Amino acid sequence: MNLFQNAKFYTTVNHLKDLPATRAEIAFVGRSNAGKSSAINTLTNHTRLAYVSKTPGRTQHINFFELANGAFMVDLPGYGYAQVPEAIRTHWVRLLGDYLQHRAQLIGLVMIMDIRHPLKALDVQMLDFFALTGRPVHILLSKADKLSKNDQIKSLSTVKQALKPFTERQQVSVQLFSSLKKQGMAEVETVVAGWFAD
Ligand code: GDP
Repeated sequence: MNLFQNAKFYTTVNHLKDLPATRAEIAFVGRSNAGKSSAINTLTNHTRLAYVSKTPGRTQHINFFELANGAFMVDLPGYGYAQVPEAIRTHWVRLLGDYLQHRAQLIGLVMIMDIRHPLKALDVQMLDFFALTGRPVHILLSKADKLSKNDQIKSLSTVKQALKPFTERQQVSVQLFSSLKKQGMAEVETVVAGWFAD
């Protein structure tokens, strides 16, 4: 089954209390500008399902898309946007943490990290929040096309090494991804489909 292609927009919410009732969800998170919207658009074969280059920071939306198997893909607000006041940033990190830790039907997390700036402090914080659930995380090293093939492989291996301490407590996998080149699409699909099969 093609899980992501033809995903349909379902709803947008601005508060955790308004989250819809769903059977199963997979969430996409990442630092602002990591390439999350592009990745969602590429995976779902839409050009504007998730907005690319929004003005981040003020209203933070959580977008829900329905997948082919009736589960939902949840596009969480990007974190770490520098221009946003500290208080708002902290507020959102807390809300995201709340969702990641307590959303019972969340079966796995896809984290987007720019291949040139992986595993920043807030990324690690998100991993820590999610570790408590015991659910799997799959990391996309995005914008892989910005590096040579050689450097992509080096970066993948460095990140895998850095993730070693995490893999002792949590199922964490990582792959190369490029929305521009549509690189790594089948791999994401296989990993996420595996979560549903578990
Ligand atoms: P978001 O804030 O995480 O949703 O990031 P966006 O998807 O809006 O992407 C941020 C910037 O990175 C935009 O200028 C995109 O065009 C660019 N970008 C995203 N994905 C890729 C990619 O695979 N390759 C390249 N070269 N640029 C990308």
